[in-house]
Amino acid sequence: MLANYHTHTVRCNHASGKEKEYIENAIKNGFKVLGFSDHVPQPYPKDYSSHIRMSIHEIEDYTNTLVALRDEYSKDIEILIGYEVEYTHKYFERMLYEIKKYPVDYIIQGQHFIPDEIDGFYSGAMTEDVEDLKAYVEMTVEGMNTGLFSYLAHPDLINFVGPDEIFQEHMSKIVETSIAKNIPLEVNMLGFMTDRNYPSDRFYSIASKMGAKFVIGCDAHNPLHVMQPEAIDGFTSFLNKHNIKIGNNIIDLKRL
Ligand SMILES: [Zn+2]
Ligand SMILES: [Zn+2]
Repeated sequence: MLANYHTHTVRCNHASGKEKEYIENAIKNGFKVLGFSDHVPQPYPKDYSSHIRMSIHEIEDYTNTLVALRDEYSKDIEILIGYEVEYTHKYFERMLYEIKKYPVDYIIQGQHFIPDEIDGFYSGAMTEDVEDLKAYVEMTVEGMNTGLFSYLAHPDLINFVGPDEIFQEHMSKIVETSIAKNIPLEVNMLGFMTDRNYPSDRFYSIASKMGAKFVIGCDAHNPLHVMQPEAIDGFTSFLNKHNIKIGNNIIDLKRL
């Protein structure tokens, strides 16, 4: 695996380590491409402050830091500047306007909240409600259809614990869209390593049978997370079980 496009920084308030440490660990572990994709700042109303993402005024420092490191390390590794972004109705256009004021190479979609952080629910909270599942799928597919996202992070973040048939009926729409729009689906190493509800057998067996394309994401919130799949117990067995080939893990980025 030569590339990882899912890397955070301390600005999101739940990651640790310096950018330099992520980069040096990536080089040490054989990566040729390291994309930073910290949680995107959202243009929320002034009376709301999010504790899980940088604020808009930090975009400048985020980009300047990464541009300097990109030049410093250019002989050893390609550094990319991106964001992990929730698609929302209320904030998407304005958010794009803000991040595009500075250099940005790509965005990945991570649908953590439905319909958004202020008015919605956290996708990873356990639910049996089919309406939650439907809302998650609808919002995710709508975001994918913008054509702006280079890949879909943890596609099965939604923690639906209801019947397999219902899960399949709805989640297959995400897989169909990923195939139609050529958007790879991420297999998330952090989720696997920390035993979260994702990546789940039931999602990847559907996606694999339908013929989706996959990409592996470290989802590094710590420099040590920038590691090869073999370093995580059981992860390669999971990939093999679902017939997911790793390859060099380099994908075509969709330009903004
Ligand atoms: Zn995070
Ligand atoms: Zn992430």
